[in-house]
Amino acid sequence: MHYPALLSSIFLLLVNILFYSCIDVRNTSEDHNKTVKDSPSLREYSVQSVLWQQHAAEYRALAYQAFNLAGYRLEDILQQEQQGKKPMAIITDIDETVLDNSRFNAKLIEEDVAYNKERWIKWAKQINAEPVPGSQEFFNHVKDKGVEVFYISNRFKANKASTVKNLRKYDYPYADSAHIFLKDTTSGKQPRHEKVLANYNVVLYLGDNLSDFHSSFDDKSTQKRNQLVGSMKNKFGKKFIVFPNPMYGAWETDGIYDGKYDWTAAEKDSIRKAKLKAY
Ligand SMILES: [Mg+2]
Repeated sequence: MHYPALLSSIFLLLVNILFYSCIDVRNTSEDHNKTVKDSPSLREYSVQSVLWQQHAAEYRALAYQAFNLAGYRLEDILQQEQQGKKPMAIITDIDETVLDNSRFNAKLIEEDVAYNKERWIKWAKQINAEPVPGSQEFFNHVKDKGVEVFYISNRFKANKASTVKNLRKYDYPYADSAHIFLKDTTSGKQPRHEKVLANYNVVLYLGDNLSDFHSSFDDKSTQKRNQLVGSMKNKFGKKFIVFPNPMYGAWETDGIYDGKYDWTAAEKDSIRKAKLKAY
């Protein structure tokens, strides 16, 4: 081969190597993007519900509506109840009923991570949960009327001190060990309700999750939960005061995901889409 022909061949070879290596790099990059795109985000689906709780004036209005209704009911009860019975008390849940944890849920979205116990404990120890609108006024009014408040929550025992501090930070009454019952052996609240019922006439229950009101809602499917709500419809707004929580709850874990906790992100995504009712 002549010298110029040899140079030309080497040049073409180099051009080819460069060309195909570029294609390889581009393909690898495309494959990577495809992989990232194909695995669904863990928390993207909850953006709208967290935005709603944090920004919708309708959320605030619903919280005020719930506390106003609880206040009207309390006035009625105080006028009607006879003296000589056990002292009156109100049982309330804490999260998304007294304290707003939407910042925790926003952080899960920001970092695209699933909920886990350790993260929750860390968040609660920061004592940064803010009051649900209307809650401070309501519970202090309850105290002024001589009615006690019991906080029955499924927060972890590791958060007992921080829960007391968070409630005291916003001047909630009865924020002490005698009035706060966190999760012990079971997440079912009935045994803790009964401890209070043994000594008090419980006139109202406040919560964002149906199990805050009655144990018959524990571990039930969507269909059963809806049937039970129908069978107790006269109690809502009378003895049971419900607060909105679109971010999480048994409606999602026991309902949408059928009480199963090991679905993959892709399976959860498919389940959510499959359960949408369209026309
Ligand atoms: Mg709650």
